[in-house]
Amino acid sequence: MILSSNLGYPRIGSNRELKWLLESFWKKEINEDYLFKKISEIKKSNWIKQKKSGINYIPSNDFSLYDHVLDMCLTLNVIPDRFNKLKKKNILDLYFAMARGYQNGKIDLKAMEMTKWFDTNYHYIVPEFKPNQNFKLSFYKIIDEFLEAKNFGIKTRPVILGPLSFLHLGKSASKKFNKFNLLSKLVPVYKQILKLLKDFGAEWVQIDEPILSLDLDGSLKKKFISTYKSLSKNSPKILLTSYFSSILPNYNLLKKLNVDGLHIDLVNTLNKDLDKILLNFPKNKLFSAGIINGRNIWKNDLSRSIEILRKIKRRIKDDKIIISSSCSLLHSPVSLDNERDLNANVKDWLAFADQKLIEIVFLQKYFNSNFLIKSNYLINNSISLKKRKNSKLINDQKVKKRIKSINSKMLSRNNKYFLRKMLQEELNLPLFPTTTIGSFPQTKEVRKLRLKYKKKEITKKTYENFLKRETKKAIKFQEKIDIDVIVHGEFERNDMVEYFGEKLKGFIFTKFGWVQSYGSRCVKPPIIFGDISRSKSMTVFWSKFAQSLTKKIVKGMLTGPVTILQWSFVRDDQPREITCKQIALALLDEVLDLEKNGLQIIQIDEPALREGLPLRKREWNNYLNWAIDSFKIASSSVKDETQIHTHMCYCEFDDILDSIEKLDADVISIETSRSNMELLDSFKAYKYPNSIGPGVYDIHSPRVPTAKEMKILLEKAKKYLDVDKIWVNPDCGLKTRGWPEVKKSLKSMTSVAKGLR
Ligand code: GLN
Ligand code: ZN
Repeated sequence: MILSSNLGYPRIGSNRELKWLLESFWKKEINEDYLFKKISEIKKSNWIKQKKSGINYIPSNDFSLYDHVLDMCLTLNVIPDRFNKLKKKNILDLYFAMARGYQNGKIDLKAMEMTKWFDTNYHYIVPEFKPNQNFKLSFYKIIDEFLEAKNFGIKTRPVILGPLSFLHLGKSASKKFNKFNLLSKLVPVYKQILKLLKDFGAEWVQIDEPILSLDLDGSLKKKFISTYKSLSKNSPKILLTSYFSSILPNYNLLKKLNVDGLHIDLVNTLNKDLDKILLNFPKNKLFSAGIINGRNIWKNDLSRSIEILRKIKRRIKDDKIIISSSCSLLHSPVSLDNERDLNANVKDWLAFADQKLIEIVFLQKYFNSNFLIKSNYLINNSISLKKRKNSKLINDQKVKKRIKSINSKMLSRNNKYFLRKMLQEELNLPLFPTTTIGSFPQTKEVRKLRLKYKKKEITKKTYENFLKRETKKAIKFQEKIDIDVIVHGEFERNDMVEYFGEKLKGFIFTKFGWVQSYGSRCVKPPIIFGDISRSKSMTVFWSKFAQSLTKKIVKGMLTGPVTILQWSFVRDDQPREITCKQIALALLDEVLDLEKNGLQIIQIDEPALREGLPLRKREWNNYLNWAIDSFKIASSSVKDETQIHTHMCYCEFDDILDSIEKLDADVISIETSRSNMELLDSFKAYKYPNSIGPGVYDIHSPRVPTAKEMKILLEKAKKYLDVDKIWVNPDCGLKTRGWPEVKKSLKSMTSVAKGLR
C-alpha cells in the first residue's frame, strides 16, 4: 500500500491568528498563558485538518512562534553572548529578544540577522556561531509538540532542521574559523534529541537538509556521510528531505547516506532526471514522492501526476512509496474556502494548502483502490485544467504575438553610454546630482485615507485631492532643500508590486491569500494567471501632475519586470521567462508614455533581481540572460536624451556585477551605506562604466545621519569612481520613515553634495 505525507503546514492560521496573537502579546494585551492556549488551538486544528484529509504522515514541530531556525538556536543553546543578560529571564522574553531585539532601560540588544530562506520570500533568523561554540539540548519544543499531538490522538512525524543545514545557514563570528568544525560537537546533541523522540514513541522523523538543493563541495559531502552514519543509530527511522531543486547533482551522495527514506522534490525534477534517479534507487530506502507543489497556488495536473507516479511504481514497490507535498506548505496560503469574491473561473484553477492535502490523498487512494479510476474528482480536475488552458481570460493572442516580435533592436539603446551622457547634458544637472529613490513617508494618514477609499467611505475625488496635496507638499519640500531630481513621492501606491498588478491585465488578487514572510509578518502576493498587458497608463497621471508643479526635473517611477515577477505567484503553464517578458512589454508602453508626456528621467526599480538567482550556479546564466533582457525590453526604446535610472537594494551584488552593467541603465542607485561602501571596491575593480548613486545613508533606521558621515562616504566614493558619474541619494525609498527625520536627513544630504561641488 502507498502512504501519504505532508512536509509542513502553514503556521499562520486561517485568519492570520498567529499574527494577531503575537502582536497583542508584544503589546502586553494578552498574557503568556492565553498566548499558549491559543497557539495550541492553532496547532491542534492544523493536525486535525491533516488527519481528516487522510494524510498518513503528519508533521509536528513544523509550527513555530516566530521561525523554525530560531527554534533550533534555542533547542541547541546557540545564543549570542549579548543575550546572556536575558538568560535568567523567561524563555519567551529571550526568544523574542533574539528575533526582534530588546530595549529596556539601559539594555539595548540588537536583534539577530534575518535573511531569505533559499529562493523563497520566507525569512529565517541567522544563527551566530562563535569559535568556542558549545551545544546543549536546552529547549524541548520538538519533544513537547510530538507529545502534544499524541495527546490529541495523532502520532506525528516530527520535523527537524538537519545539523549540516543548520550550520550552513548560520554565520561565524569571525571569518577565520570554519563553522563546520563545530559538527563534532553538534552531532551528539542531535543524537540526544533523536533518542528522546524514539523513547517517546516516534516511529519516523523528518530531517530537513535543504542545502542538498545547492552545489556542495566534496568536503561537505563527506561530512554528510559521517554525520548520518552517526545519527542513524538509536534514532527513529529517518526520512531525509531536501527541496527547491533537483537532487540529481547530489544523488550519488544521497544514495550512500544511512537513512531510511529519501524525499524527492518532483516539482523541480525533470522527467529525464527522474529516470536517472529511478534507474538505481536504493532498494532499502523509502521513496517520498514530492509531487504536489508546496510553493504555488495552482491545482495539480492530476493526470500528469498519475503518469509520473506510474513510472515510479514500475521501479519501486508500493510499500516503499509515499506521496507527498514537494516541500512544506508554509509557502502556500491556507485555504481557498474563504475566497468568496474571487472570480469563479480563476478560483476553479487554484489550490491552497488545504486543497493540496486533498490532492495528495487523492493520488494515494487512486493507486490503492481501483474504483477511483473513474472518480468525479479526477474528471473535474481535468475539466478545470482544460478550461484554464483554453480560457479567454488567460490567452491574449496579441500579447503572444508581441512576445514573438521581440528583436535585438528592442534590447539596446541607440548609442553607447558615453554618447548618451553627452546628449543628456541638456538635463543641466550639476556635479554630484542629488535625488531620492522614490517614496516619501507613507504616514498613518496616507494609509488611513487609502483604507477609507477602499472601503468606499470616501469618494475617488476626495482621495485624489488628498494625494495631490501630499504630492504637492513633497515637491515643495524637495524644491526648498534644492534636490536636483525630484520624485512625486509614491503616495498613491500601497505597495510597489501590488500597485502595478492592480492595473495590469493578467493579475488577480485574493482576500486571504496570505503567506508568512517572517514572524508575525505576512504578505499577500498578487497572482499572475494570464497573459499580461496594459490597457491604459498606470503612472503618467501622477508623474505629469508632479512635473506640472515644478520647473525642476521630475523622475518617473516604475517597478521593473523581474521584481514584479519575483514578488507574485507566477503561472505554472508557461516559462517564467515568457511571463517576465510580457510584464516588460507592458512596462515598455508605460515608459514610452511617460517619455511622450515630458518625463526626461525614468527610474525602473529592480530590487529583486539578485534574489531571483537560481539555487544552482549552472542555472544562473540562463536566468540572468532573460532577466536582463526583460529590463532592457522595458527600458531601451527611449530616446538617448531620456535618462534611465534603476535601483537595487540588499547588498551582495559582487557576483552579478557584469549583469548589472549589461542592464545599461544610465544611472544605478544602490545600497552601500550599511557596508560602509565596501561594495564600491568591486565596482572599482570592475570599472563600472555608467553612473552610480551609492546610497549615502541607511534608511532602514530612524537615525538621522550626520553631514560628516555622508561626506566621508562620498569622499570614499570619489576615490573609486569618476567624479562626473557619482550621484548622491539615500540607499532606498523613504516610505517607512517619518517626515521629521526625512527632512533633517535630506537637508544635510543636499548640503553635503553642494559642499563637494
Ligand atoms: N521606488 C521604491 C521606493 O522608493 C523602491 C523600493 C525598493 O527598492 N524596495 O519605495
Ligand atoms: Zn531599495
